[in-house]
This record gives sequence, C-alpha cells and structure tokens, in this order.
Amino acid sequence: MSDQHQNLAIIGHVDHGKSTLVGRLLYETGSVPEHVIEQHREEAEEKGKGGFEFAYVMDNLAEERERGVTIDIAHQEFSTDAYDFTIVDCPGHRDFVKNMITGASQADNAVLVVAADDGVAPQTQEHVFLARTLGIDELIIGINKMDIVDYEESTYDEVVEEVNQLLKQVQFNTEDASFIPISAFEGDNIAEESDNTPWYDGEILLEALNDLPEPEPPTDAPLRLPIQDVYTISGIGTVPVGRIETGLLNTGDNVSFQPSDVGGEVKTIEMHHEEVPKAEPGDNVGFNVRGIGKDDIRRGDVCGPADDPPSVAETFQAQIVVMQPPSVITAGYTPVFHAHTAQVACTIESIDKKMDPSSGEVAEENPDFIQSGDAAVVTIRPQKPLSIEPSSEIPELGSFAIRDMGQTIAAGKVLDVNEK
Ligand code: GDP
Repeated sequence: MSDQHQNLAIIGHVDHGKSTLVGRLLYETGSVPEHVIEQHREEAEEKGKGGFEFAYVMDNLAEERERGVTIDIAHQEFSTDAYDFTIVDCPGHRDFVKNMITGASQADNAVLVVAADDGVAPQTQEHVFLARTLGIDELIIGINKMDIVDYEESTYDEVVEEVNQLLKQVQFNTEDASFIPISAFEGDNIAEESDNTPWYDGEILLEALNDLPEPEPPTDAPLRLPIQDVYTISGIGTVPVGRIETGLLNTGDNVSFQPSDVGGEVKTIEMHHEEVPKAEPGDNVGFNVRGIGKDDIRRGDVCGPADDPPSVAETFQAQIVVMQPPSVITAGYTPVFHAHTAQVACTIESIDKKMDPSSGEVAEENPDFIQSGDAAVVTIRPQKPLSIEPSSEIPELGSFAIRDMGQTIAAGKVLDVNEK
C-alpha cells in the first residue's frame, strides 16, 4: 500500500479495450486475491485452458457490469509504488457518459484507450472532450490492440497523430498527454517492456501511472451528497442513496435536501450493507432521515447541512465549450443539462462573451451565436429548480454537460450562481 490516493478514469470508445485493460492492470499488480486465482487455475487446468488467471479477472469484471450500479458498486483498486488507484466510472456501465459527467470531477487523471486498428472514434472524441472540460489534469493514451496491427510503428504513429489532432481541437494541452503502444490482451508494455515494440523507448503503462502528478487535495467544502435513487426498505423506511462528493455525513446531523427543500436529522447511515456512524467523500451511502418520506425527495436533489444548504439556482453563469451542436447555438436554446445526478431542461438565456480558446481572452462581447469548437460565457435559466454550485467554491458540484438527442453538445463549469 502507498499513502497517496488517485482516482483514475478509463475512457475511450466502446470495444477499444477498456475493460480488458482494467483486468490487465488488476492482474499485473496482484490485486486479485491469490486464493481466488488458485481456485480458477485448478478449474481451468481441468478444462485444459490456457491464460486462465487473466480470463478469471475478465469474467469477474463482466459479472460486475451485469449487476449494474448499486450503493455498494465495487470500485476496482490497484496500487503502484507511489499511489493507490481507484478506478472510477467502471467501463461498460450503462450510464458511462453520465458517470463521466458526474464523476469526471472526481477522477484526477485518465487513461484514454484507443484501438490501433480503429483509431479515433466517436466516443473517443466525446470522452476526451468531457475529460478536458471537466478538469482531468493529465491523460495517458494507451494505443491498444497493437498485436492486431503486428506491432507496426507506422500504424502507431498514425493513430498518435490522429489523437494529437483531437487534443488540439479540444484545446487539451498536449504536454499533459503521453502515448504508449500497448496490448491489454497480450500484456505488452503494461507491467514490462515489450520485445514486440523495439522501436518504442518511452515509459510502460504502470511507470506512467506511477509518475502521474499528485492530485489536488480534496476541498474542505461542506457536505454535498447528490441523491441517485430513493428506496423504501422495510424495517428502516425511506433510504436515499448516493455518493458523498464533499464534506462529512454523521448520524445526528441536521440535513437539508435541495431543491425539494425538506430536511431532518440523520438517523442511520449504511455502507456496504453495514451500519456506520459517519461517511466521507467518495463513500457510496444509503441513509435514513427522520420524517422524510419517499415522495418528499428525488434523484437530482442534493443533501447538505441544514445550516449551509446546497444552492438552488434561479439563473447561473457558466463557461462552456461547445462540441457538436445540431446547429449553431443561440439565446433561447433549451437543451437538457446533466449536473451531478440531476437532469433538467435549461434555457441559454444570453451568450455573454465568446472567448479566444488559445489565450483565454474575450474575443467578442454578446455574440449572436456560438458553434462547434467555441468557448463562451453564458447565462442559464433552469426550467425546473436545480441545485448547483460555483465551481470555484465546490468544483465537485460545479460542472455539467449539455446533451441533446443522446449526444453531448457542450460541457461547462459554473462561474456564479444567482440563488432563488
Ligand atoms: P471496452 O468496451 O472498451 O471495455 O472493450 P473490451 O475490453 O470489452 O474489449 C473489446 C474486445 O476487444 C474484446 O473482445 C477483447 O477481448 C478485445 N481486446 C481488448 N484488448 C485487446 C488487445 O489488446 N488485443 C486484442 N487482440 N484484442 C483486445
């Protein structure tokens, strides 16, 4: 174990090898209990199958995925000398993009998986864009499935060039990106330098992970716990569940749910099916609050201290980056905003400034429209109450994505909240 902790997101297009890479990382770092591997080794030997240990990890991950998200979603963990890593945003999850939006502020750094035989694909673009906008510090890019392209340097170079183009397009500082040719399946350049890529002399993946910059210390913000679901459990009553983004939750605390605007005293807190007296950022909890019924609160509410309740926005100002709008964006456009666990239609009331992406300076005041690639400051009016916070105060609750017809159109950070 190391004492520094990192939350790591694994991003990339479907089928490019995210799950396989997670399995490989867990396997190579010895994060799968020996007795479990041993059991599987025996079974596999009986059946006469090779590569059994790794296959086991993959089976287990697949099972995790089938189960979907619950309050005890098993986060995958592994360690290097410098860090204990938790993989956030389990790949393959049905709400993956959603999780990226709500969870990317939680991830400190990310590994982008790009299959060498496919190159940059739609979700590669979407995930890179979100990672950039939502504040990922550093990106390690694994050009995966090198075995399929015969470990050819020229193919690797082509894909690296394609990804570099994409990084430029979303204004990601390419100095904060490093590329590695890998095969998650065969294990090339993951834990050991591969003989198959003699032309590559950079870091292997575990070295690159170990050399990531230290994450920013967590904010000492007040409790913010976005509600993911509300259950009724016999013997306990109403149980809202969610992940604590900031602050602490203790039994006996007086809490407030916004924008539903109800509150009470925390009676019990449950984590991993056990009652606990308190919980902290990153914990997935179910809890019970005196006097709160199932219909009083809902997904999208945020729970905070009664004496420092979550902000509810009448309007808010935000900096957004536009990715792929159906057409140009003008004032009056009302798409769905995804912020933490909330989904609320919001109107872009005014486009206040267009920014020059390279310098960050104001390029135009009150432009008539913005389009793909533009960065802008806009004023937004939620059509239903929405709890959201200035990114400078509580970054974990200060980012959002704008989606329309199943696609991410823009993402942004909240600059200022004008409270109801
Ligand atoms: P995900 O959707 O990004 O999580 O992708 P998966 O990890 O599920 O992988 C998709 C498919 O690609 C599976 O059939 C994997 O076995 C295969 N795959 C993943 N990594 C590699 C690799 O490095 N080499 C080869 N040949 N196949 C791979």
